[in-house]
Amino acid sequence: MSGPYTIEGSTGPWEVVVGLEVHAQVTSQAKLFSGAATEFGAAPNSQVSFVDAGFPGMLPVINGECVAQAVRTGLGLKAEIHLWSRFDRKNYFYADLPQGYQISQFAHPIVGKGEVEIELSDGTRKMIGITRLHLEQDAGKSMHDQHPAKSFIDLNRSGVALMEIVSEPDMRSPEEAGAYLAKLRQILRYLGTCDGNMDEGSMRADVNVSVRRAGEDYRTRCEIKNVNSVRFVMQAVEVEARRQIEIWEAGGTVDQETRLFDTARGVTRSMRSKEDAHDYRYFPDPDLPPLVLEQSWVDQLKASLPELPDERRARYVAMGLSTYDAHVLTIERETAIFFEEMARGRDAKLAANWLTGDYFAALNRLKRTIQDPPVPAAHMGQLLDLLADNTISGKIAKDVFEIMLETGQAPAAIVEERGMKQVTDTGAIEAAAAAVLAANPDKLAEFRSGKDKLFGFFVGQTMKAMAGKGNPALVNDVLKKLLG
Ligand code: MN
Repeated sequence: MSGPYTIEGSTGPWEVVVGLEVHAQVTSQAKLFSGAATEFGAAPNSQVSFVDAGFPGMLPVINGECVAQAVRTGLGLKAEIHLWSRFDRKNYFYADLPQGYQISQFAHPIVGKGEVEIELSDGTRKMIGITRLHLEQDAGKSMHDQHPAKSFIDLNRSGVALMEIVSEPDMRSPEEAGAYLAKLRQILRYLGTCDGNMDEGSMRADVNVSVRRAGEDYRTRCEIKNVNSVRFVMQAVEVEARRQIEIWEAGGTVDQETRLFDTARGVTRSMRSKEDAHDYRYFPDPDLPPLVLEQSWVDQLKASLPELPDERRARYVAMGLSTYDAHVLTIERETAIFFEEMARGRDAKLAANWLTGDYFAALNRLKRTIQDPPVPAAHMGQLLDLLADNTISGKIAKDVFEIMLETGQAPAAIVEERGMKQVTDTGAIEAAAAAVLAANPDKLAEFRSGKDKLFGFFVGQTMKAMAGKGNPALVNDVLKKLLG
């Protein structure tokens, strides 16, 4: 058992304190306050309404589906849903923010305190507190690398709905920070409220890092902006903590500031001194009344919430799967759905073995994913049926599976057409086994004189003589009888 994670400085061990603010793009057809489309990868400025472009006199109108998505997410994070919330203007100047402010929620977010359970590589589980979740608009995008003397602006993202999910500073190591972000992404994907595609910018993490001696209060933190992968979050925490430790140990002070993680060089560098809330001159948006929800509507959303990864995993363990298999099968919701279709009414353990074994290996080999499966779940189910009723042996099943991958045919058709049914006729097996013994008098004599290992040789030869189609259990039984 190892102790808590610390980083060893020149003057002793330091504890790392991490909190995350995650911006997750809401999965929705339209933006938070306009009807413009949100699809990724569209031509620049092709999805911009007058509201998104900040034209004077335009009025924002809230998109009910975005509100529903925020409530679903809050419920999935086991958080309080605030029936009364309010939108505020967060004022700042940025060329890609045409309104000159972001509509956000400051004092009254739609979702309050919640929690997320993470699991670490040694199996330890830990609760990470959620402080709040609020809805806000995304900004546009400035592009400085398109022209030598000009900057370009794409407003497609302007006004897209974001959920800002703020955690408590409950994480104490790079691993915990990575596990939290991965778990959060998994929950959002299960809920269908954010696609979690970090490389497309649908999820970005602002990572707050500070260090302290055990038992101390929190020291000054720095915020590392827009980190876009789980691995980079872990790296950023580590290098930023080490940077701060060096400063403290040299007798200096860490300044509260916003920093960037340079992924190529593996260092963080200063971006700007940290703003406080008062710098933004927040005030209630006069164009928008408070957002008032009905409890009955929240209850409806709760009743229609999909099963979440932790519950699904617990159900799989109750079905008799190992904790490991249950974990692997629930990482992605699509895998779980595939598994359930394949296992329905069948031996769940056998289905799990096939999926996590041969099937995952095939996905790797063919560079495919479970969303784009080379063999459908229904065919895998049929293969399990052929095994269950002894039409084929486990060994033949592997050959059938390879042919399924190559041809896309259903397993029953393959077995029928290619004559791959296993032989369960004891008479035929006895004839084949007897012929093998007769052809190998020397080996038989050795066996009789005590060389037990040769039993395997006779099994192998009999199977070979039967072109691999003998039922393995019966071949064993027959040989035991003949040799016994
Ligand atoms: Mn924000």
